[in-house]
Amino acid sequence: MSVFPEYDEIKKLIDLWIPFGKVESLAEIVDHQSKYSLHRFSLGSDHPEAPSLILTGGVHGLERIGSQVALSFMQHLVARLPWDESLNEQLSKMRITFVPLVNPAGMHRFKRSNGNGVDLMRNSPVVAENPNWGVGGQSYSKNFPWFRGNPEKTLEGMESESKAVAKLVIQEIKHSKCTIALDLHSGFGVSDQLWFPYAKTKEVFSEIHQVHAFSKILDAVMPNHVYVFEPQSKNYTTHGDLWDYLYDQKPKENTFLPLTLEMGSWNWVKKNPLQLFSFLGAFNPVKPHRQKRAMRRHLPLFDFLMHATTSHQHWSQAEVEQNRISGIQKWYRSIQK
Ligand SMILES: [Zn+2]
Repeated sequence: MSVFPEYDEIKKLIDLWIPFGKVESLAEIVDHQSKYSLHRFSLGSDHPEAPSLILTGGVHGLERIGSQVALSFMQHLVARLPWDESLNEQLSKMRITFVPLVNPAGMHRFKRSNGNGVDLMRNSPVVAENPNWGVGGQSYSKNFPWFRGNPEKTLEGMESESKAVAKLVIQEIKHSKCTIALDLHSGFGVSDQLWFPYAKTKEVFSEIHQVHAFSKILDAVMPNHVYVFEPQSKNYTTHGDLWDYLYDQKPKENTFLPLTLEMGSWNWVKKNPLQLFSFLGAFNPVKPHRQKRAMRRHLPLFDFLMHATTSHQHWSQAEVEQNRISGIQKWYRSIQK
């Protein structure tokens, strides 16, 4: 039975995936008469310490392009697995996990929030120092955007969707020597932006040296890449960011780099202003050729992330002090005393 295109696509992928990897349901999401599974797809090494790459999409139900981009990468991998020796060799050393649609109820209902009216990216217990008004999250009413729900100070107080993703990520960062996560969003700005923590404060990210080391290899390997790479707090600060919360759960000895890809939708609007009048048009490319372009545009980044995760030991601890200084100069100059 058809549910909606992205969910149908996920169900179709299960049979294609099973010969090569695992599929499980992290949670059952009940929303009025509807029920959805929160699917996790994984490939590669089962070793708990193996480097781990996690891709998530569809946290905000209106941002359909994030799920579509994740699904197109999954299809790309499935098409290579039967014949590509080097990919199979790489996957014997690392693991890749997808949760392509974190908020099925929201996507089905054309809503940013989940079925309970909660913004899943404001729902963690993290309290920001000085959040931006509005977008920073509010606890007054689910009838207004950016509703945080009522997160208690624990994981168990979170919504089913954010709790399921959090448990998965905590399991990975606890054991894996290096975890990189990429959460796919859309709708803010004209450029494609890659954000690293924090969302809660404009303070310097505690492992800025790793971020700088990462950005150096990214710029060297993909010299003409399209991404504006900076701290999320440079754009806005919020309460309840899931990745800030998860970062704080990381054991000291392991590497964890949670990134957000914010696909700039204002460009799609600029080229096709009429789409502003379409309900989804502010967050997604409406013209098919632009949708296809978004789906192939990020493949080099995903491939790079797989390699950066697998070979983390060669960059993540390189020139710690120099990278720390350079990172602060590059991204936090305005707050230096
Ligand atoms: Zn979003």
